[in-house]
Amino acid sequence: MKTLSLDRILQSQGFGTRKGCRALIEGGEVAVDGTVVTRWQTEFQPEGLAFTVFGEPWAYRAHLYLALNKPPGYECSRKPSHHPGIHTLLPEQFTWREVQPVGRLDHDTTGLLLLSDDGDFIHAQSHPKRHQPKVYQATLAHPADAGLVQQLLDGVQLIDEKAPIAALAASLLDPLTIEIALDQGKYHQVKRMLAAAGNHCAALTRTRIGQLSLAELELAEGQWCHLDQAQLARLG
Ligand code: URA
Repeated sequence: MKTLSLDRILQSQGFGTRKGCRALIEGGEVAVDGTVVTRWQTEFQPEGLAFTVFGEPWAYRAHLYLALNKPPGYECSRKPSHHPGIHTLLPEQFTWREVQPVGRLDHDTTGLLLLSDDGDFIHAQSHPKRHQPKVYQATLAHPADAGLVQQLLDGVQLIDEKAPIAALAASLLDPLTIEIALDQGKYHQVKRMLAAAGNHCAALTRTRIGQLSLAELELAEGQWCHLDQAQLARLG
């Protein structure tokens, strides 16, 4: 395991610039395993140490793997134009660490969103060949029957697409609620598929990615959590 100077450790954890981190350390705001350390040059192997910053415990993590229950009215973009960005729902340190969403949800879509500062993870998760199922629950504007389900399973033609696109699975939970599983992430895909099938998506939430469901994370809207290895493995 690599040793790092304390200023670099703090910077890697999102506590600001190198200069800012050195000032924090010299100002006595950082303790390691219960002892205040004021020399920023002091080296540590950060894994497993108990850090305290501004009197608050801070768990060192080489990378962040997060799940957010996205509320409506937030944009996934880093430079949001009309609504606040999802980054405003996360601790400031995570913005410094350049945490990015894995794919995007529309500003009015809610539910399970993954975020990370690990570029390899984001790339692997969003690769189109991954064919990772994502499950959505859509509220329909018009009551539907088995005909809509069949259309989605058979495939619907979207403008700009060469061939019809089919859902992996679809089922009506009640006449105004459909559950639909997709293994692609095209722009506004659920909304466009429902429109192409003659209905309209009035509200949309993502309930599952791979085998990881939002329900098991027990996050209220706007809440986030770290994902552990077992949960990451269930993403598929
Ligand atoms: N499909 C949509 O139409 N919107 C989303 O946000 C996600 C999937």
